[in-house]
Amino acid sequence: MTPTLPTSAPIVIVGGGIIGMSTIYHLAHRGVPAVLLERRKIASGTTWHAAGIVGQLRDSAAQTELGKYTARLFRDLEEETGHSTGYKQNGTINIALGDVRHEQLLRTHDHAGRLGIPSEILSPQQVQEFWPSLVINDVQSGLYVPSNGQVNPLDVTVALSKGARQRGAQIFEDTPVEHLDIRDGKVVAVHTAQGAIATDKVVLAGGMWSHLFGKQHGITVPLHAAEHFYIVTEPVEGLSPEQPILNIVEERNYWKEDAGKLLIGGFEAHGKAWGQGGIAEDFEFDQLPFDMAHVEEDLTRMFARMPALEDMGIQTFFNGPESFTPDGRPYLGPVPEVQGVYLATGMNSNGILNSGGVGLTMAEWLLDGMPSRSMGPLLASRAQPFQANTYYNQARAAESVGFHYGISWAGRQVNSARGVRRVPLHHELVRAGAVMAERIGWEVPMYFDAKQPHWSDKPSLRWKPWSESVQQECLAARDAAVLLDQSMYAKIVVQGPDAVHVLNRVCGAQMDVPTGSSVYTQFLNERGGIEADVTVIRMDDNTFMVVTGHPSQQRDLFWIKSQAPKGLRFEVFDATSAYSLLTLQGPKSRDILQSLSSDDLSNDAFPFAAARQIDVAHARGWAIRRSFLGELGYELLLPSEFTASVHDALFEQGQPLGLRHMGMFAMNACRLEKGFRHFGHDIGEDDTPYESGLGFAVALDKADDFVGKTHVLEQHRKYGSNTPYRLVSIRLLGVTAQEGPYLIHNEPVFKGEDIVGHVTSGDWGFRLQTMVGLATLHVADGVSKAWIDEGGFEVQIAGQRYPIQAQLQPFYDPKGTLMRG
Ligand SMILES: Cc1cc2nc3c(=O)[nH]c(=O)nc-3n(C[C@H](O)[C@H](O)[C@H](O)COP(=O)(O)OP(=O)(O)OC[C@H]3O[C@@H](n4cnc5c(N)ncnc54)[C@H](O)[C@@H]3O)c2cc1C
Repeated sequence: MTPTLPTSAPIVIVGGGIIGMSTIYHLAHRGVPAVLLERRKIASGTTWHAAGIVGQLRDSAAQTELGKYTARLFRDLEEETGHSTGYKQNGTINIALGDVRHEQLLRTHDHAGRLGIPSEILSPQQVQEFWPSLVINDVQSGLYVPSNGQVNPLDVTVALSKGARQRGAQIFEDTPVEHLDIRDGKVVAVHTAQGAIATDKVVLAGGMWSHLFGKQHGITVPLHAAEHFYIVTEPVEGLSPEQPILNIVEERNYWKEDAGKLLIGGFEAHGKAWGQGGIAEDFEFDQLPFDMAHVEEDLTRMFARMPALEDMGIQTFFNGPESFTPDGRPYLGPVPEVQGVYLATGMNSNGILNSGGVGLTMAEWLLDGMPSRSMGPLLASRAQPFQANTYYNQARAAESVGFHYGISWAGRQVNSARGVRRVPLHHELVRAGAVMAERIGWEVPMYFDAKQPHWSDKPSLRWKPWSESVQQECLAARDAAVLLDQSMYAKIVVQGPDAVHVLNRVCGAQMDVPTGSSVYTQFLNERGGIEADVTVIRMDDNTFMVVTGHPSQQRDLFWIKSQAPKGLRFEVFDATSAYSLLTLQGPKSRDILQSLSSDDLSNDAFPFAAARQIDVAHARGWAIRRSFLGELGYELLLPSEFTASVHDALFEQGQPLGLRHMGMFAMNACRLEKGFRHFGHDIGEDDTPYESGLGFAVALDKADDFVGKTHVLEQHRKYGSNTPYRLVSIRLLGVTAQEGPYLIHNEPVFKGEDIVGHVTSGDWGFRLQTMVGLATLHVADGVSKAWIDEGGFEVQIAGQRYPIQAQLQPFYDPKGTLMRG
């Protein structure tokens, strides 16, 4: 007898791959028996054919914890359900061929040590002891992580379904979800040919089907299927099941033992999108034709690396589809468009190793309202409306396949779907020598070099091909003036009689400020963690403009809407396209702007943090006395159509005074010298303002209650500013810009023999001519000035320790006199 669908369910999951199954399993463990609907058989989409490699190390401690959790789950599931998962801990070895990769492996070894994942640096000979037939003459080193391993993805999915069912979850195969019922912006039911299920929470875990399914409901799910290839040899005599998995990033391939055979997969630099015309109705445990011509180069590299492959014989040439997203990261959590709909999709060939952590986190989101740790880079709400465009996703997915491998460094570029979003000054900037990078569709000027306006794709972790240009831009900011085009930054208008109360609820700072003021503030979550780092301008009694980073355009809009108290009278809308944002900075900035304005720009009339509507050339716009560089300066918020004429006028007046364009690389170097935090790098959802050194931006005494207040108040009462985790400025003396080594990210910080923190971001500071960075330090009793002043700090970079100076104030203009002058 076919079981009948329930008429209602607390939560319905669409899709029975490993992600949907892990979600229902974790919900069941939390005592919530949800319903999962699978269009065909469980695991019949992408999951069944995955290679099943499981690594644990991630960029952050929080995400690494999820990686470790997944490995534990695979081990314990077997005992819980009696169903084997095929889990084995055979370890992974990453090898380095070139110098840059070698340095990266040494850095990863440091990072793994800090996060408690044992690892070992191997010599080429030691690599060969594990992989005897490998050609090692060009191998520099290997990084061995013994606790990584592999599983059988189909078995894991079955074990998860068993574990979920044992706790009351209901799983229905051959039950495609046809559509969602949405009323007043909220999901109310899920429809299938077998009937409807009333529910107010739906998880889209439909893998490569999710993009079109979402689009059908006005939900942006940026992903597309692309082909992924591997080959499997005939059985190899003597191949141990304990053979560690091998990764060769520079050659874009991975190698693993698979039931006595060797499985070798590749991630080409430019893959092939698949399913452009939609996915066949009867797609189930299917594979795709193997495109020999497409992967010939990759196969040639594999055979050159192990000539013995010739004798082993290839038994299987496999090709299967998987979903890839524009930035190579999954989409998780609530969507802004429809209340009650959550995404858990877009796994970019990491769905098996992410499955446990994703299921655990989705259950937290669905039941607790928020995940227990930062999921910032993976949020569904980071999707931009234009990313619902299917052609865009097709074009990018083919390249996203390649994000997996190849060298990751500051100059890594994408080549597909370029020029999609352009700032109003795009052509002027190109004429000035702008070298652009792509950021969520925007063409963003990274640096200016009129003589050679082209990227170099030769990776470097030290002096870069563009460093000389960046240096000139930084020195111009210090000695004359620079103009940055930050028009891609998001501008969100909050308007209405209760707008001030809405913002006072959402922001940590006092927002009831005089018209014509700007406020630097953070949006906080219930744990007091930072959800957004923004500047807000009060334009009149009832109108505020929130200026935030371009990646947060939808996210912050959604946050304001979802956190605003019910019943207040306000509107919130996206005005990003309506305004450009030109930032004029440097000691000559006032003279330049004053020469184009009849308004009084003197410090008395227009002090730091003021926001005024002023004349600029023949236009009018908002000028805000703020700086992300630490210089005297103005941000000009102009109606878009006036941008070009203001730009031209600024340069006509400014060039004789040394005005030049500045790109984002220089901006980053300057803000590091000035100790300004970058959201997503230095501060995020797990950091409170006090831990971030931003306690000055919290108004504990304001009348309106704000989200996160309970937590930050308690923390402040207990520790004052001396919280157990605290962000500080650091500098590394005695190294040169040319040779480095560079502070980049995640380098462990020691005091004596104890690891007391890590670097959150770093770079060469051109105005100070020294290596600068920010680091978060930790000591249980609280990080006090006295403890910092004791000194004795060292940073570990690629296995070597270097002394550093740490202090609470920035190294550039510690008292802020330039900016306020
Ligand atoms: C060749 C290859 C090798 C790989 N190797 C690895 C690896 O080593 N390690 C790793 O971590 N990852 C690997 N992956 C990636 C991994 O397989 C995927 O990331 C993972 O399986 C994705 O799981 P999912 O649940 O999101 O998608 P899927 O497994 O595709 O599941 C989605 C399910 O949703 C169902 N569905 C869709 N629409 C509907 C609807 N409307 N109603 C009901 N059901 C619906 C589909 O039928 C499907 O079963 C590999 C992938 C490939 C192709």
